[in-house]
Amino acid sequence: MEALQTPYFVIDEAILQRYYDMLADSLKQNWNNYLIGYSFKTNSLPWLVSFVKKNGAYAEVVSEDEYSLARYLGYENSEIIYNGPYKGEHSFRDVLLAGGYVNLDSRMELSWLRKLAEEYPKRNFEVGIRANFNLEKMCPGETTMGEVSGRFGFCYETGKLEEALKTLSEIPNVSVTGLHLHSSSKSRSVAIFRSIARMACQLKEEFHLKLSYVDLGGGYCGGMEGRPEYPDYFPVVAEELSKSFTPSETKLIVEPGISLISKCTTFVTSIFDTRDIKGTRYVMTDGSRFNIDATMIKSSHLFHVIKNESYEGSRPLLKEQIISGFTCMECDRLFTYTDSPELIPGDKIIYENVGGYTMSLNPLFIQYFPAVYIRRDGKLIQVRRKWTPADYVQGSEREFL
Ligand SMILES: *Cc1c(COP(=O)(O)O)cnc(C)c1O
Repeated sequence: MEALQTPYFVIDEAILQRYYDMLADSLKQNWNNYLIGYSFKTNSLPWLVSFVKKNGAYAEVVSEDEYSLARYLGYENSEIIYNGPYKGEHSFRDVLLAGGYVNLDSRMELSWLRKLAEEYPKRNFEVGIRANFNLEKMCPGETTMGEVSGRFGFCYETGKLEEALKTLSEIPNVSVTGLHLHSSSKSRSVAIFRSIARMACQLKEEFHLKLSYVDLGGGYCGGMEGRPEYPDYFPVVAEELSKSFTPSETKLIVEPGISLISKCTTFVTSIFDTRDIKGTRYVMTDGSRFNIDATMIKSSHLFHVIKNESYEGSRPLLKEQIISGFTCMECDRLFTYTDSPELIPGDKIIYENVGGYTMSLNPLFIQYFPAVYIRRDGKLIQVRRKWTPADYVQGSEREFL
C-alpha cells in the first residue's frame, strides 16, 4: 500500500464498536432503562457523530452550534440532550417542544422556560436541572474544581438549587423530571460515580422530586491500563440508585465522551528533520502539540515509533530528544524521549489514546485540519480529507478577497 501522507488520525471502528457495546451491555445488565447521550464537545467528527447515532445514541450538545450540527447530521429535536451554560433560546425552545432533554443551567433559562410555558398553556413541559454540589467533599482530592466551586448549574449548598426548584414549581405547566449531575474529576474513579449516584438519591429525597431520569453526565475512564472500565461503574451506580429509584420509573442517562473514543484513536506523525542546538537534540515532526494536546496539559503520551526502514546507519542511544511540532511556537514541544535510540527523518511517531479533546480542539494554525481515516477490516478508509485553503476561505466574503 502506498504510504499515506502524514499527519493523520485513525479511528479503529471495531474497537470503537467494542467500547460502545461494552457500555450498552453494562447499562442493560445493571439498569435496564438507560440512554446514551454522546458528548459532542469531546469529538464531534461528523463520521463519529453518525456512528454513535446509528448505534442508538442521542446527541449531548452544549451550544447552539453543536445543536445545529446534530440537526444537520440527522438527529431529531427529540434526540437531543441539551446541556451547559451557553444554550440558544431558539434551540432551547425547539428541543423542549419536541420532547427532547433540556437540563437547565442558569437563571436566564428559567425565564426562557417561563415565557415558553406561558405561550403554550396547554402543553406540559418536562425539564431537568443541573445540580452543582460539593463532590470534592465526598471524594477529597479527586475532582477537577477541588476546594473552589464548580461553575455549572444551580448550587445545592448555597440554596440556589432549592430556589430554582421553587421558582419552577410555581409555573403550572412545568415539571422538573430530571437531575443532571455531570461533574468532571481528575480521577474518573468508581467512587466518583458512587458519590454522584448518592447525591441523586439525596436530592430526590430532600426535595421530593419525581424523576423520570437521572443523568450522571460523562467523565468515565475507558481503555486506560489499570483504570476502571464501563463494567466497573454501573453495578456500583445501580446499587446506590436502587436506594431511591427503580429502573421502571427512572431512566439512567450517561454522557460518555473520551471513554468511548480514546482507545480506538491514534495520531500518526512523521519526523522531517532533526537538529542540535547547544547540545539539545530537537526532533521536528509534522504533528503538533495543538493536534493532540491543545490545552497544553500533558507532559507524557502513549506512543510507539515505527522506524524508517530505508535507513541503514546506526542509532546511538541518546539521553534526551525533544519531540517537537511543526509550528513556529516555542511551546510546541510534545514530550522528551529519554535514553532511546536516535530518531531520524522518515521515522513515524504514533500517538495512542488521542480520541478525546483533540480533533475538536485543533486550531487552524499554520497547517489546516489533518485527514481522518477509519480502520475497517484491516483497510484504512478516509472519512475526512485534509483541509485545504479552499476549506479555510469558505466563510469569507468573496467580494473582499
Ligand atoms: C464534557 C462533558 C461530558 C463528557 O465528558 P468526558 O470526560 O469526555 O466523558 C459529558 N457531559 C457534559 C455535560 C460535559 O460537559
